[in-house]
Amino acid sequence: MADAHTITNEHTRMTETHARLAPRPGDALIIVDVQIDFLPGGQLAVPAGDEVVAVLNQYIQRFSAQGLPIFATRDWHPPNHCSFQAQGGIWPPHCIANSEGAAFAPNLQLAANATVISKATRADKDAYSGFEGTDLNERLTNAGVARVFVGGLATDYCVLNTVKDALNANFEVILLTDAIRAVNVQPGDGDKALDEMRALGAKPATLEAFAA
Ligand SMILES: [Zn+2]
Repeated sequence: MADAHTITNEHTRMTETHARLAPRPGDALIIVDVQIDFLPGGQLAVPAGDEVVAVLNQYIQRFSAQGLPIFATRDWHPPNHCSFQAQGGIWPPHCIANSEGAAFAPNLQLAANATVISKATRADKDAYSGFEGTDLNERLTNAGVARVFVGGLATDYCVLNTVKDALNANFEVILLTDAIRAVNVQPGDGDKALDEMRALGAKPATLEAFAA
């Protein structure tokens, strides 16, 4: 049975975690590719991808309430994009700019002040990372951001590469593990990506850690 001392220490530790993770000035939320084509029923569905939406809405609320910046990346491909099978790529056509499938998940409650970052907009280039070929780094830097909270789709592709680029650009990264889902083209890809992100320095967290 835990004695009073142990309980106190546990309580102190949890309180410290909450304080450390509570969104504060210098933080930004990055929502990766929560688009219709990546949800169940979409052209390139991520299994259970729709489950991230409600959780992300909670994070959005917290960041919005404090006026902290929110960025939403999206795949925004031309119809002849190099990542599509017809052009020798590995994916079915997905997220064609201005198509219904490229729209954000209808239930995603993106704040009015959210900044949309379109990526892989050129036919000859793919981009899994929200930083690749975009001004995301510049925008974060201009907004005085030091720490980014990352969630979205898919763990083993665009989340992984966005997190890696954020770490390379010297942002502290909190990986929202309850707001990501994997494609798992090969079984275990999602777990491998999680391990890789943790090993590189991303710190995992869930909504529980934000509880008031
Ligand atoms: Zn794509």
